[in-house]
Parts: sequence; C-alpha cells; structure tokens
Amino acid sequence: MFKKRLLWQIYPSFLLIIAISVISVAWYGSQSLRKFHLNQVAEVLKIRAHLIEKQISANLVTQNFKEIDDFCKQIAITSSTRITVILPNGEVIADSDEIPSRMKNHADRPEFQDALRQGSGDSIRFSETIGKRMMYLAIPIKSAQSETSPNGGQDDKVIAVVRTSVPVTAIDEALKDIYKKLFWAGVIIAICAAAISLAISKKISRPVEQMTEVAKHFASGKLDMRLSIPNTAELADLAKALNEMARQLNDRIDTITQERSQIQAILSSMIEGVLAIDSAGHIVSINKAAADLLDIDTAKSNGMNIEEVVRNPQLQQYIKDTLEDKQTAEADCFVLNDSGRFLQLYGSSLTDNKGNNNGAVLVLHDVTRTRQLEEVRRDFVANVSHELKTPITSIKGFVETLQEGAINNTEEAKRFLNIIARHADRLNAIVDDLLSLSRLEEDSEKRRLSFEKTNIRPSLVSAIELSKVKADQKHIAVELLCDKEITVKINAALIEQAVINLVDNAVKYSPENSTIIVKAQKTANEVTISVIDQGCGIEQKHLSRIFERFYVVDKARSRKLGGTGLGLAIIKHISGVHGGFVTVESSIGQGSNFIIHLPTA
Ligand code: ADP
Repeated sequence: MFKKRLLWQIYPSFLLIIAISVISVAWYGSQSLRKFHLNQVAEVLKIRAHLIEKQISANLVTQNFKEIDDFCKQIAITSSTRITVILPNGEVIADSDEIPSRMKNHADRPEFQDALRQGSGDSIRFSETIGKRMMYLAIPIKSAQSETSPNGGQDDKVIAVVRTSVPVTAIDEALKDIYKKLFWAGVIIAICAAAISLAISKKISRPVEQMTEVAKHFASGKLDMRLSIPNTAELADLAKALNEMARQLNDRIDTITQERSQIQAILSSMIEGVLAIDSAGHIVSINKAAADLLDIDTAKSNGMNIEEVVRNPQLQQYIKDTLEDKQTAEADCFVLNDSGRFLQLYGSSLTDNKGNNNGAVLVLHDVTRTRQLEEVRRDFVANVSHELKTPITSIKGFVETLQEGAINNTEEAKRFLNIIARHADRLNAIVDDLLSLSRLEEDSEKRRLSFEKTNIRPSLVSAIELSKVKADQKHIAVELLCDKEITVKINAALIEQAVINLVDNAVKYSPENSTIIVKAQKTANEVTISVIDQGCGIEQKHLSRIFERFYVVDKARSRKLGGTGLGLAIIKHISGVHGGFVTVESSIGQGSNFIIHLPTA
C-alpha cells in the first residue's frame, strides 16, 4: 500500500489550519467591519432624520407639504442623502429624489412599519423608485401638542414618518478597499504561515527520515552505523534506543559469527563427516569430510534433498529412520557401492526448544581403512598358516615315512632327513622374518627405534660383507659406489638389514658371474640407496604387489631359493620407519633396480 511521507501528512494539516484560520478571521473581521460601518451609517441617517424632523414638523402641522418636499430636495443635495416623508397611511408627501405624487404608497415598507411600531426602523433592500439597493432609516414624527401630555408623550399621535437613506453601493464601495487590504494581508499572512509551517514540518520530519535511513542500513546489516541524536526529547530517546539495539545486535552477530566460524573450523577439521538435515530431508549443513565421503559438492549441496545426493537405499532408510526418531544412537555400517567405502553412521534426531522434531544430524565415520586392515590381518594369518603348513606337512610326511620303516634304509633316511632339515630351515627363516617384521612394527609403534645422523657408507660396506659368502658362491661381484661422506639420519642396523635383504635377493635372482652394484647418492631432498642387478628381472604386472607380505612371483623358484616372500615387505617397512619409501625399476631379462629413498629433512 502507498504510504504518505510524514512531511506530507503534517504539512497539509498545517495548511488546512492556516487556511481555516485566515479565512475565518478575514470573514469575521469583514463582517464585523461591515456591521460597524452599517451601524455608523444608520446612526448618521438617524441623526439626519432627527434634524429633518425638527425642520419639517411645523410645516407638517400646517400640512404645507409642498414646503416640506422642497426642503427635502434642497437638503438632499448637500447631504447626499435621500429624504422621504411619509404620512401614517403610507402616502408619500415629500421625497428628495422623486415627485411624491408619482410614488406608490409606502405603507408596506418594512422600515416604515418598524418606525410606526417601535419608534425606529431600518432596512436594506432594493429601491424600486431609484433602482438601487438602499439602506433606509425611518423615525416617526409626532404631533407637537403631545409633548406636554401627562404620560410623557407615550400616547402621542404620529403625524408622519421621516425616512433617510443612502445607496448601499456607496457603503460597499467604502468597504471594498478595506476588504482588498484585508484580502492581501490574509494572503501574505497565509504565505508566511505556509512557509513557516513547511520549515516546521521539515524540522519535525527530517530527523525521522534520517532515522529511517539509518534504520534501513541497520536492516540491511550495516550495524556499525550510528544515528545522530536529534534535539527532540522523544526522538532522541528513540535514536538512543535504536543505537543501543544496533550495538547489541552487532555484538550478538559478532558472537554468533565467531561461534559459527569456530563450529565451522571444528567441523571442517573433523575426520568424521557431519551432516545436518531438516525434517523434510534438505541438507542444512555439511562438512568437508562428509561431502568427500558422499562425493557431494559442498557449495551446491545446501538445500538439496538428501535422497538426491545419497543413492544408497540402506543409507536412505537409515536417514529416514533417524528423522522419524526410530533410530537408536548405535551406529550402522554401510558400503557405498560406487566407491566401495565402508561407512559407520551415528544418527540423532534434532528437536527444537518445544520438543518438536526438526531434523537430524548424522556423523559419518569412514571405517574403510580399519576394515582393510582387518582384512589384511586376516589374510596375513591365513598366509602365515599356509606358509607354515607346507613345510610342516612335508616334515610330518617324511617323519611318518621314516617311522614306517624308511629309517632302515640309510641312504633313503639321509635323503629324507636332508629334506626335513631344509623344511625346518624354511620354517626357521619364515619365523625369523615374521619375528623381525613384528619387532620392527612393535618398535616403530612404541617409538623405540633410535635414529642418528650418521655416515651411510659403513652400513653399506658391512651389508655387502655379510652377503659376500652367497655372492662368492655364484661368482657375483658386488660393487659399492658411494661417496665417502653421505650422512643421513638413520637407524644403521635396520638400513644394513634392508641392504642385506636387497643384495641377497639380487644374488638369488642373478646369474653366476654377474655384477651387483650398491649405489648411494645424495640429492637436495633425499639420499637414495640403489641395489642394481643384472638378473632375471620382474614382470611389470607384479611390480605393484611384490612389497606385499608373502607375495612371490614364482612360488616354486622362491621356495627353492629359500625365499619367504617377506624380504621386500621388511624392506618396505624399514624405509617407512625412516619416513621414506622403496621403489623398483625392472625389466625381464635385464635386471632390477631396487631404490630405498630416505628423506634428508
Ligand atoms: P623372497 O623371499 O621370495 O625373495 P621377497 O619379498 O624378497 O621374497 O621378494 C618377493 C618377490 O620379488 C620374489 O619372489 C621375487 O620373485 C621378486 N624379487 C625380489 N627381488 C628380486 C630381484 N632382485 N630380481 C628379480 N626378482 C626379484
């Protein structure tokens, strides 16, 4: 709806008051003035009538009407007054402006009737004789002997009525000029009053408009603005109250913003995904972790329905149950089909301060890694059991064969015992490797490993020395390429063990008379230890898996060479505890290059 400005509500009222006041004062003034003027004229007419009465009363008694008429005509010239003398029966006997005989009977004239009745009469009306509006005043002339009557002339006989009159136009003419002045004075007063009213209206409305402007800024969120305090007490109170309100709002918004950013910071730094939805299932808030887990764009997700973004029916049902408050706080696990992730969900319905259900909050916990670790552990146990089972089965088989009589055949018995010894060695090797792996894990978990900034060369020399026996058996030369001073923070014993494992592998998978190079290099960020052989190499498809526990490329060959499938897993672990990693480059028939990367920083 159209709303008028305060100024246009106040100002017209002022104008109306001014108009009414000026008009009524002017009207009342002019009326009073006119009345006063007419009274004055009537008074003059009355005096003149009395003067005439004195002059004509003698002629009246003698009925010398002609004399009276002449007198009237003569007097009228000097007094600018029409004079009429009328007999009680209404007959006109003298008139200053007309021949009396031509004039009608004046018995019906109101001033005449009033004069007879109440001793004086006046009226303003149109004169048919002269054809003008006239003001008349009539007084009766009483007989001369009656003045001495006992009742003081009360019962005196009226012998005529003398009437004096002037044209009203003359009076109006006289008043016109005064009216004109009155009008212009009124106009000037009205203009001045209107201007003053406008100034006053503006003075009243301006602070309100200014306050409205600032209040609009408040409403649009600019709460740091302040209203200037107007002079009017009520408005000053209002301005102070508004300023205080803005200050408090600003403070509260600051607090809320601060709290919100704290909550946002907490939510976004959480590993768990947090998702809040309203009772209709629209996303109200979602943190980065939840968005990543559900593969949603955080920027677009707000306001979207959860069913649009989460396609998993199980999860949808869980959310539905949570919204309907059917869900206990216990978590459920879901597999997201597309990403293969395992999610653990904790759902809780949200209630407002009246206890109405107005949404739900869900905490999503990615348990994929835990599940994978459980799986790895299960696989590991199965693998270990399997790896141990094979030599044990063999040992048991050969022992039974010996028991069943083969022991009597010395040659056979020797062969079987050799096989049993080999399997026992394998068992020993597996258990040794498992033990060193678990020790390594335990030590690194409990941070029992000590690292020292030390020259790497002695560890490499020692590893080569220890592997030398096996290398010599195959006439393999092991060369060391290492600067005298390459220092890096390491656990020397572990690095030595890793290099021994690598050189042992290189020896195992290299042909006789080949060369193995152990090379250490320092770059800006890392120290690398490479063990390069000219052996059989590894097929590309196996490269990503050879560092897994018990993974072997060729089971029969590995077993024949006394491998356990744990050597590279141990190396990977040793690199890991140093904050580094291990890589391999290999091509079939040409050899392999295993590189341990150790960070320098
Ligand atoms: P293993 O005890 O069987 O050697 P590893 O964990 O040390 O177990 O090695 C895993 C597999 O990687 C081996 O079975 C082997 O096939 C391959 N391998 C490791 N080192 C080499 C190498 N220098 N040359 C070729 N193949 C290798």
